[in-house]
Amino acid sequence: MADIAEKIMHARDMEMTLDSFARSGGIAPVRAYYISGEFHIVADGETLYSDEGHEYCLQCAEGLLRTALVHLSGDKRDEHRVSSTELHHEDTCKHCLICGALLDYALNDIGVASELDHYLMHPLSRDLRPGDAFHIARMLEAAPADRTVLRIARQALRQIPRVHRRN
Ligand SMILES: [Zn+2]
Repeated sequence: MADIAEKIMHARDMEMTLDSFARSGGIAPVRAYYISGEFHIVADGETLYSDEGHEYCLQCAEGLLRTALVHLSGDKRDEHRVSSTELHHEDTCKHCLICGALLDYALNDIGVASELDHYLMHPLSRDLRPGDAFHIARMLEAAPADRTVLRIARQALRQIPRVHRRN
């Protein structure tokens, strides 16, 4: 029986292969940002709302804050600043709340369970999609010894389209 360290090494190899296929397929997660403080502005028939749980790509965070600042009084303005979030462990994969861009993330146990549910319900396409490769790599990163994660990862590797395989 392979020992646990050996298994985890193998999981890391699979994670790197999946990530490199994802990158070659144009998957480029961006850093996640949030706006400090909370605002809720209704102006010109539009609602501008943000709190520290909302995450965006840099461009959208800056755009939203710029629009909000126009409507805020001087002393309120100083409460808000765009900052990058720590790569804390998430319940789910993350996308910019405004434009939907894929944000970089790491999964916690709940996140792994929910991604596993997703892949058990929606089997992989015959030719692995780069986006799926990225999400499966995140499961491997968070749960490198989980048998179901490893099974799905092995299946994903087999389904990387032939032209992308190194051998
Ligand atoms: Zn965005």
